[in-house]
Amino acid sequence: MSDRDGKIWMDGQMVDWREAKIHVLSHTLHYGCGAFEGVRAYKTDKGTAIFRLQEHTDRLFNSAKILRMAIPFTKDQVNEAQRAVVRENQLESCYLRPLTWIGDKKLGVSPKGNTIHLMVAAWAWGAYLGEEGLKRGIRVKTSSYTRHHVNITMTQAKAVSNYTNSILANMEVTDEGYDEALLLDSSGFVSEGAGENIFVVKDGVIYTPDLSAGALNGITRNTIFHIAKDLGLEIVQKRITRDEVYIADEAFFTGTAAEVTPIRELDRIQLGAGSRGPITEKIQNAFFDIVNGRNPQYAHWLTLV
Ligand code: PMP
Repeated sequence: MSDRDGKIWMDGQMVDWREAKIHVLSHTLHYGCGAFEGVRAYKTDKGTAIFRLQEHTDRLFNSAKILRMAIPFTKDQVNEAQRAVVRENQLESCYLRPLTWIGDKKLGVSPKGNTIHLMVAAWAWGAYLGEEGLKRGIRVKTSSYTRHHVNITMTQAKAVSNYTNSILANMEVTDEGYDEALLLDSSGFVSEGAGENIFVVKDGVIYTPDLSAGALNGITRNTIFHIAKDLGLEIVQKRITRDEVYIADEAFFTGTAAEVTPIRELDRIQLGAGSRGPITEKIQNAFFDIVNGRNPQYAHWLTLV
């Protein structure tokens, strides 16, 4: 990914893509304390627009707060950096990756006295779990790895270190030919995917784990709450068991990268009809209408670059 043309915003400056480097003794590289965001911009009739930019920036600052890192920029500067990166790289639809890390001034577990940095990169990135997955649904397996307990690494921070758990789970199941992993919390209840929140549909009601299961408070998850309300569908946040997923009528993953991806199978058990369910499809259509600027009710969620 490093050998390409383009610009990356680094600590307040646009830097050539190939020159956007850090030192091998950077604290975050050794101890894993850092936070990031995944954001998308979509092509709309009015131009390219970043979806829920403010919410992503707010979450980045909250993640940093949880990790006791003081980002040396204002939220407005971080918003502007994201807009600028999309413009500079002349991207129409893209994924954005802001990341904050601890510098190379000193090592040792304590980061006190070290510097805090921030970068924003952006690049074109299609459907995370495949175009086919968006239409037909994906095959998921419950991972043998447990999701972080809420009092180990902080689960409301989109922390770099939390993703070791996601990587292990994802590699475990994709090695066996599945598309993505589902993780259970330390009590055995459904938490989330390796990089997605999960929803299930049963008898016309939508269920999703409450955040005590250690799932990230997804911005797409929140978007689904709005969509469901608009569609007159009830959403319940509660503890969910894996066998409740097995007998659900429909299930889907949500995330900035994954968007709204139907799940057609869990642990080799077919969910519902084994394809994208009708409620999932309605939600997916509403989601793509919103992010692509076709629903004026949500114009305030789109920031033109
Ligand atoms: N859970 C995890 C672990 C994730 O990495 C993501 C992606 N950021 C999500 C949930 C979904 O969050 P969002 O909808 O804000 O992208």
